[in-house]
Amino acid sequence: MQTFVTDSPEEAAACLNRGETVAFPTETVYGLGADIFRAESIAAIFKAKGRPSDNPLIVHVQSPDMINEVAREINEAARILIDRLFPGPLTLVLKKRSSVPDIVSAGLPTVGVRCPSHPIASAFLGFCDHPVAAPSANLSGRPSSTDWKTVYHDLGGKIDCLLRGAPSTIGLESTIVDCSVAPPLLLRSGAVSIERLLELIPEMKIATSCLPGQAPKSPGMKYRHYSPEAAIVLLDAPSLQLPADPHSAWIGLSALPEGLMHSLRCHSADEYARVLFGFFRTCDAQNIHTIYCELPPEQGIGRAIRDRLFKAAGKN
Ligand code: AMP
Ligand code: MG
Repeated sequence: MQTFVTDSPEEAAACLNRGETVAFPTETVYGLGADIFRAESIAAIFKAKGRPSDNPLIVHVQSPDMINEVAREINEAARILIDRLFPGPLTLVLKKRSSVPDIVSAGLPTVGVRCPSHPIASAFLGFCDHPVAAPSANLSGRPSSTDWKTVYHDLGGKIDCLLRGAPSTIGLESTIVDCSVAPPLLLRSGAVSIERLLELIPEMKIATSCLPGQAPKSPGMKYRHYSPEAAIVLLDAPSLQLPADPHSAWIGLSALPEGLMHSLRCHSADEYARVLFGFFRTCDAQNIHTIYCELPPEQGIGRAIRDRLFKAAGKN
């Protein structure tokens, strides 16, 4: 199959509306979308990514008003989060309407819903006839794609269309809160921080899958994720002495360790999040065997970076 690459949200939406798979930019990472009501198109997403069929997809809507098309019983906690944090990098798990095909939710009675704030994503979703089911646009198990070239590298020839945009500004997948249970449960950390969520929903609980080193509990979290080919070594503290090896790399917030050719010092946790997956991919392209990753402080988006690093290291 030839992948049609376009800069036009309207052209990309026309592809999706006739049943094709379309990768598109969002503020978190690039997504690979299909019309939620076309089970065959959704099946094509799983096939292109090599994604296990018990891993549910997130449904993307252009405006909060459309959540009712896919979910029912929007309770008070969900209402608060929608009013305060949509559109943005937050997914809510809600009870699903029976009209949403089981393949989208991997047979669960719930559905994850997100409303991206990215202008191109929003324009694209606005031209789509229905909500769009979309996981991250990468081969299953690999780091998510944060720019269109990476999407093309992983999925060119396997998907129908790629809507090009600028690199994702956040760089990590959305925060996920399950509002179908009481009290609400944080399933995945992301750019919407735990601190911010607890301000709005003080009773929210945190799933063990969000606590590095604990057994994953929620669907899709049991799989190896975000992994480069290289081995990941986590560093708890700044490390000035690492083996001077041309096949090793380092990324972190402190001063660069000496002797490593491939090092990237980030100046903030936001920058660390934005560049992390791209750095993994660059390391793979440069035949790096070991990537030393300094763990950022456990606050704000730092928790999400730590979560992805633990998972990439196979420690969660
Ligand atoms: P991705 O878009 O590739 O990050 O994958 C979406 C992730 O969202 C899945 O791996 C699940 O962990 C989570 N998810 C989606 N729908 C649900 C749901 N109904 N219940 C719990 N988690 C969900
Ligand atoms: Mg993914």
